[in-house]
Amino acid sequence: MTAQIIDGKALAEDLRQSFKARVEALAEKGQRPGLAVVLVGEDLASQVYVRNKVNACHAVGMHSEKIIYAAAVDPEIVLKKIAELNADPAIHGILVQLPLPGHFDEKAVLAAIAVDKDVDGFHATNVGALAQGNPRFIPCTPYGVMKMFEKGRIDLSGKEAVVIGRSNIVGKPMALLLINAGATVTVCNSRTKDLAGHTRRADILVAAVGKPRFVTADMIKPGAVVVDVGINRLPDGKLCGDVDFAGCLEVAGQITPVPGGVGPMTITMLLANTIEAAERKAAGN
Ligand code: NAP
Repeated sequence: MTAQIIDGKALAEDLRQSFKARVEALAEKGQRPGLAVVLVGEDLASQVYVRNKVNACHAVGMHSEKIIYAAAVDPEIVLKKIAELNADPAIHGILVQLPLPGHFDEKAVLAAIAVDKDVDGFHATNVGALAQGNPRFIPCTPYGVMKMFEKGRIDLSGKEAVVIGRSNIVGKPMALLLINAGATVTVCNSRTKDLAGHTRRADILVAAVGKPRFVTADMIKPGAVVVDVGINRLPDGKLCGDVDFAGCLEVAGQITPVPGGVGPMTITMLLANTIEAAERKAAGN
């Protein structure tokens, strides 16, 4: 059996096209959605991510601002800027590109972002709302994965779901979303004993490990839905996921590729969250 490939790139493009009308409707009400992206430091990968986010905003007619600081900047200056952005009516979403340099208190920076502009969904209040099953902003990567399930009519209720990885950015919110959708969820980490024993039970397997081709064909259940969140740069410069795509393709029922899977969905859901923030503001709630 050869798995069906879930085309994240095409789905992301369809969604982005559908955003244009929502953006223009908001602009007519004086609320053109605006995203501010704050970057600290000269990390090349982060610079590319920030540029892609800003360009994606412009492509759907959104306003976007990029604020860049040198790595050695005083954290107080960044906190002051966040306070200004919190009060700026042209800005509906604020994103601080992570990771921050070592002299920053990352939690304090995330806590400084206004809860109703926290389009990354990392503020403790928004994490709590998600845990209670009443989310306002869902972290973009797991939100994108859930959108893939929804658009692919993949029913999660009663399914065995296994998430490899427990980070605050991907694994943990992914697990909460799957719990909220009625799946039976197991979350694995680097200390999990008999990892393959867990993954082989999974109807839905989400890999967010950060290790190239970590999930092999013998670790998955025939017919499973396999979602590869990983983005790993190989020595030859090519990108690859956490799943051995070629091997798992022959065993899975559905599978996401890297590139062209979860990656394009992540930025798309950042746009979605910013538009939702602007819609809430326009509606007065
Ligand atoms: P992370 O913070 O490094 O977390 C990795 C997780 O994998 C940790 O919970 C770790 O366990 C677990 N892990 C490591 N080795 C393991 C093993 N041998 N067995 C089981 N679990 C193991 O990474 P992240 O931020 O969640 O990102 C994960 C991957 O997704 C990375 O490749 C990243 O680049 C990618 N990513 C992609 C997108 C996208 O848009 N597609 C967005 C964000 C991240 P411990 O907690 O025990 O250490």
